[in-house]
Amino acid sequence: MKRVLTVTFAAALAAVLCALTTARLPHGTTRAQSAQGLSHRPVEVGEPDLIDHGMNPHRTETGFLTAGGTGSLSPISYHNGQLMQTPTAYVIWYGNWNRGNGTDTPAGQQIVRDFLSSVGGSNYYRVNTTYSAGGYNVSGNVTRSTREAAPGYSHGTSLSDATIQTIVKEAINSGALPADGNGVYFVLTSSDVAESSGFCSRYCGWHTSTSSTQTSNGRLRYSFVGNAARCITSCAAQSVGPNGNAGVDGMISVVAHELEEANTDPDPASGWVDSSGAENADKCAWTFGSRQFTASNGAVYNMTLGSRNYLIQRNLSATDNKCYIDWINRIQ
Ligand SMILES: [Zn+2]
Repeated sequence: MKRVLTVTFAAALAAVLCALTTARLPHGTTRAQSAQGLSHRPVEVGEPDLIDHGMNPHRTETGFLTAGGTGSLSPISYHNGQLMQTPTAYVIWYGNWNRGNGTDTPAGQQIVRDFLSSVGGSNYYRVNTTYSAGGYNVSGNVTRSTREAAPGYSHGTSLSDATIQTIVKEAINSGALPADGNGVYFVLTSSDVAESSGFCSRYCGWHTSTSSTQTSNGRLRYSFVGNAARCITSCAAQSVGPNGNAGVDGMISVVAHELEEANTDPDPASGWVDSSGAENADKCAWTFGSRQFTASNGAVYNMTLGSRNYLIQRNLSATDNKCYIDWINRIQ
């Protein structure tokens, strides 16, 4: 039997309090750490810096995840740069995704593929249509490329920010993936791989972009997300996942976060950001909304896309600066 959370007025108050007492500190800490981190990041001249994803506030005492507040947040605004209309997601499977550890597995890869194939056009993802501006029509759709790259451990088991970019360029230059200015290249690492600028300690994922002479718009947009099994208590909201793979199920919310940020702020921060540099998904990070369910294995989930259940953070509407889990039915 599914356990269901429906937020009554009293429960909504409790959720807001939880968001203030439990979620607020990690979220605020992350922004401060992100700002501090800029000084020792390898920033290319004239290039935007990385946008981090925060760490996890974990379950509330109700057994469900932090629902998050329902009010308007500080406004997000458009800064006249490029937006992506319908991004194409490419996956680079770094490391070994055929391990016998129950998480870095072909079945885990399929969870990611199924998510990227089904998130576009969903009631969840269509909130990004509120970011259409500057002649760009953000469609709320996503295309998953069937072309993938699998470079193994071509740069060892500890990667840097610069190496992530190299891995993307090598996947293109080898012919494994096309050079696509409309693409978001996800470097997804198996759980035995470190990202030395702070995966598991400062962030769970990030996205950025670099210039390119190979794409029609002069840009390459890419993202790093590591298997959350490397630090399940930091980078996943729960230690069991709705698809039975806690590490990859945890990655899904981070991939969603980075995808919608890359969609609406592909070249940070020339797209949509608030006055402190937070992008749309940053403002709703680690909040999961008023509609939560419990799967038979005890995992919490908050949406069904295709044939799978997922637990994914909410995303901001640019129309009212509120966080939603379902834009079509206005469920927060
Ligand atoms: Zn972010």
